[in-house]
Amino acid sequence: MTSRFYTNSIDVNQGTALLEEGEAHHLLHVMRLKMGEEVTLFDGKGNAWRGRITKTDRRRAELELLDQITVATKSSREIVLAVAPPKGDRFRWLVEKVTELGINRLIPLKTERTVVDPGAGKMDKLKQTMISACKQCGRNEFLAFESQRSWEVCLEEYHQTHHLLIAHPNGAELRDIFVKLEPSQSLLIGVGPEGGFTEEEIDQALQAQASLVSLGDSILRTETAAISLSAAVMLQ
Ligand code: SAM
Repeated sequence: MTSRFYTNSIDVNQGTALLEEGEAHHLLHVMRLKMGEEVTLFDGKGNAWRGRITKTDRRRAELELLDQITVATKSSREIVLAVAPPKGDRFRWLVEKVTELGINRLIPLKTERTVVDPGAGKMDKLKQTMISACKQCGRNEFLAFESQRSWEVCLEEYHQTHHLLIAHPNGAELRDIFVKLEPSQSLLIGVGPEGGFTEEEIDQALQAQASLVSLGDSILRTETAAISLSAAVMLQ
């Protein structure tokens, strides 16, 4: 497999692409690729091309597009993860893993017991983590990052279009919920903070027709629960 690079600088009509900053640094100084070598380019929207390096300097690489190898398609099913952000590096780890697993959209949740408020700077760093995960795992469409929002707003926004699957230690077994769902059904996975969802938040979810799902007898950390349920849904 050729090395993969993300670019938002593709001119399909001219058949050219440009890499700058971090992506150029990766190509030129980490991978040490030279003129004439082939790479894979993707645009974060689901498209990918085979490209050949035509010009380099210390900070930029120009490429010629050889052929398009993947064309963006619109999936009818969307899997959203709404999760109370865990502390420190555990959120970075979560973002990396759910990108690999193919979750479409990430919502940092504000619940009553949420203690982490990832500011814009932190979210920008997490976007870099997400892009690196896309490069590594062969994903051409980005994990979409939403702004942080309250549990109430999240339920309101998604309950009509997505089935709500809320991770809760007292929930039902996953297989009992899966058998009732259409394979094409869009889902919103909800995972609470370290202190858990409050009873009121669980009631709000149930009023929005949510299913509560158990992930076993152990109390998992937020990121473990989020990754486990994401993997189960993606493999369903
Ligand atoms: N004492 C809290 C409670 O009872 O909810 C534990 C919170 S747990 C550390 C953080 C979140 O992970 C929970 O809000 C829930 O969404 C999810 N979670 C953890 N263990 C789980 C399990 N065994 N089954 C389902 N969800 C779980």
